Amino acid sequence: MSDPPPVLPEPPWPVAVIGAGAAGLLAAIFAARTGARVVALETRPVPGAKIRVSGGGRCNILPSRAELGDYATSGSRNTMRNLLFSWPLHEVRRFFEEELRISMKVEPNGKVFPSSDRSQDVVAALLKECQRRGVTILGGRSVQRIESLLVDKRRLFRLGFPAGSPMACGRLILATGGLSLPRTGSDGHGLEMARSLGHAVRSLHPALVPLLAVDPRWRELSGISLPVRLRTTGGGRMLEEREGDLLFTHRGFSGPVVLDLSRHVTGSGGEQVRIEAAWLGSNAPDWGAILREPGRRSVAVLLGEHLPRRLADQLLLLARVPGMRTTSELRREEREQLVRHLTACSLEVAGSEGYATAEVTAGGVPLEEISPRTLESRIVPGLYFAGEILDVVGRIGGFNFLWAWVTGRRAGEAAATNLEESRGAPSS
Ligand SMILES: Cc1cc2nc3c(=O)[nH]c(=O)nc-3n(C[C@H](O)[C@H](O)[C@H](O)COP(=O)(O)OP(=O)(O)OC[C@H]3O[C@@H](n4cnc5c(N)ncnc54)[C@H](O)[C@@H]3O)c2cc1C
Repeated sequence: MSDPPPVLPEPPWPVAVIGAGAAGLLAAIFAARTGARVVALETRPVPGAKIRVSGGGRCNILPSRAELGDYATSGSRNTMRNLLFSWPLHEVRRFFEEELRISMKVEPNGKVFPSSDRSQDVVAALLKECQRRGVTILGGRSVQRIESLLVDKRRLFRLGFPAGSPMACGRLILATGGLSLPRTGSDGHGLEMARSLGHAVRSLHPALVPLLAVDPRWRELSGISLPVRLRTTGGGRMLEEREGDLLFTHRGFSGPVVLDLSRHVTGSGGEQVRIEAAWLGSNAPDWGAILREPGRRSVAVLLGEHLPRRLADQLLLLARVPGMRTTSELRREEREQLVRHLTACSLEVAGSEGYATAEVTAGGVPLEEISPRTLESRIVPGLYFAGEILDVVGRIGGFNFLWAWVTGRRAGEAAATNLEESRGAPSS
């Protein structure tokens, strides 16, 4: 005897979005603009928690330029490219400025912020647009289970909650983020639900995260920030080289350049990753020449003219060169040691601060498992993904929000296209 047909709450929502963060809100707006009735379900009582804390409360909403090299994935770079450039950056900016009426400014480092410097204004504008488009947002509604069902040859999803009746929808967009900063609601349960539907979840690790120093002496430099060029190597090959500001913290290393490279350490699977610093990066003087110039000034004073004094002292200590020596007194091996610590100083790290402070999660649902045009699952028709839940991570500078906006819009439009079912929906 065959099983009785599943009992479903009727009528189902045409489109439901799980997660009202950056990607989910855009998905909801664009699904509604395409003509569907949309419900967005959000764990937190109020949507957009991570947007609020972003950019130090200012929300670095976009970069002013974006290239494929600003992103990393362990999956298909073609799919990443197709999705990323499906909404040109100037159009994304026009959407926020003209349609959401958020006035924006570009800072000298290329980061785009709301002119008000208030991330709250970005959340408010997104919520206003949701309201204008008739999106129903249900806060405090954490989806615990998703079942994919075929009812009368029609695909439906049944969504279960910790308490209360289940809901049903015809198309489902999973925009639940990753694991970083779990207090904002992204606790990884969305990834578990993707798994339960047959998707893989690829090599999760914290990214854009401060690193922990092995040598406690680095921690004594806490608070010092300076430009550097960092070179990461692992498994016998060069992984990445980047220039930017490094900040010493009371636990190790942070600052944009460290955050950008941190994923190599956290995603190395235990394999040793080496980080070497060239202090001052491309603005460094020719240290070899400076240290060869005969003179009566001490090496400590010479280095202190270019570097923060505490760092100069630390490098002299590491190179085992007495700071009082003059350049004339320096032995050749000492000079070579010092130049090595100035241009290729090893920063030994013991992992990262983890998801509690990571800005994003690297890894996630593989790009090979979704359509490069619509973000629809290749495994479960009618299921779409958007944002950080996918195996793509951007560098610091507004790139992660760009990914969330672009994929949210695409998934929203696609999920609302060619809906067979009634466009009506139950009242919430
Ligand atoms: C401190 C910090 C600062 C940052 N600053 C910037 C910045 O300035 N610029 C930038 O580009 N990026 C920044 N980022 C990264 C950026 O915030 C994320 O990449 C982006 O928010 C990802 O969007 P998302 O919608 O995919 O996920 P999220 O923003 O994490 O949203 C996912 C939502 O889904 C909800 N959810 C999860 N599970 C469920 C469930 N089972 N049921 C219902 N709802 C659920 C969560 O509550 C959450 O609201 C920052 C991140 C952090 C942590």
